[in-house]
Amino acid sequence: MTLNINKIREEFPVLHQEVNGNPLIYFDNAATTQKPKAVLEALSAYYLKDNSNIHRGVHTLGDRATRAFEKTRGLLKSFINSREEEEIIFTKGTTEGINLVASSFGKKYINEGDEIIISTLEHHSNIVPWQILCEQKGATLKIIPINDKGEILMEEFESMLTDKTKMVSVVHASNALGTINPVKDIIQKAHSIGAKVLVDAAQSAAHLDIDVQSLDCDFLSFSAHKIYGPTGLGVLYGKRELLEAMPPYQGGGEMIKEVTFEKTTYNEIPFKFEAGTPNIADVIAFQKALEFVDDLGKENIRAHEESLLQYATEKLNAIKGFIPVGTAEKKVSVISFLINGMHPFDVGMMLDAAGIAVRTGHHCTQPLMHRFKLEGTVRASFSVYNTKEEIDRLIESVSKIAKIKN
Ligand code: PLP
Repeated sequence: MTLNINKIREEFPVLHQEVNGNPLIYFDNAATTQKPKAVLEALSAYYLKDNSNIHRGVHTLGDRATRAFEKTRGLLKSFINSREEEEIIFTKGTTEGINLVASSFGKKYINEGDEIIISTLEHHSNIVPWQILCEQKGATLKIIPINDKGEILMEEFESMLTDKTKMVSVVHASNALGTINPVKDIIQKAHSIGAKVLVDAAQSAAHLDIDVQSLDCDFLSFSAHKIYGPTGLGVLYGKRELLEAMPPYQGGGEMIKEVTFEKTTYNEIPFKFEAGTPNIADVIAFQKALEFVDDLGKENIRAHEESLLQYATEKLNAIKGFIPVGTAEKKVSVISFLINGMHPFDVGMMLDAAGIAVRTGHHCTQPLMHRFKLEGTVRASFSVYNTKEEIDRLIESVSKIAKIKN
């Protein structure tokens, strides 16, 4: 099905404005996507009509809010095809999900001399939690190298797996380069030596089909705000048997069965990992984002973004002075680049002057930038509401900027 992009754009009020005297072109979707009206309306409808704490009151508003909140968990079960709703834990975002696993799984299962494997492509949020854990436990962090295109070296990965490997934590799609990693293969290989696998799906959740049963990952973490949903909300999937065996991450209300001063017993999953009042309004509004994606169809979204990616890649590569960074065979709709002789920040400023929002800098992937001997890049990332005409304006602006030094 071909999507009606103009109709889709009507759902995003923020896109219809001028920036620096030009119509806004929003190409910073890998940082966060814009939100459709339905999400914004659901947020205000909740506060106007249903605002109440959940899972505790006997009153009508509390009941309405609880049901709406739990409905999102049900939708997420389908969104990632988990076996059960109880395997879906609400977090603040991808970062918190990874920290939860590093902290809780790590406390119980990681010991001195154990090894944890991540890749060169990781976002800081899939590096630092494991570094902290390794420091605490005397474990070792090993890094899968990549080639010059920005692809994981699978043979190197296989040779890193030993009986000491307890966890492999890898990004599904790189936010900095767009590379799609062969996570299914990585999971199979890690499982063959008994290691567990966490998939950082922060970037992939908006673009690729996520099926946790088919992947057979042990954990998967993503953020609502990168899939047209609100900020401050994320999802951690974990296999039931692992979540049940893991100690709590935080203590407080909701996560307990019974508290006495002598001993506390903990609630069932998912509540064991959801201490305190959750982000109720945003969880409820997230339904509308999931429905938005579902209505359009992930395969249609992907086809549109793929056509923008191919078109932009071909045209940009033809510009004298344009230097792509990361040229993997399989990519999500992210183009990272430099312009010969120019600092990425200056390029970003000039594009902003033309109304084009891109990200510049290290993209929270400093070790990856070091691998390419770079401080940073310019990154344009496309979403379902972007158009070919917008890409043409990017190409025109990049050509003009490149001419300054080339
Ligand atoms: N992992 C990847 C690949 C990302 O792109 C991001 C955000 O840019 C994160 C993790 C962290 O996500 P959040 O800041 O929503 O927790």
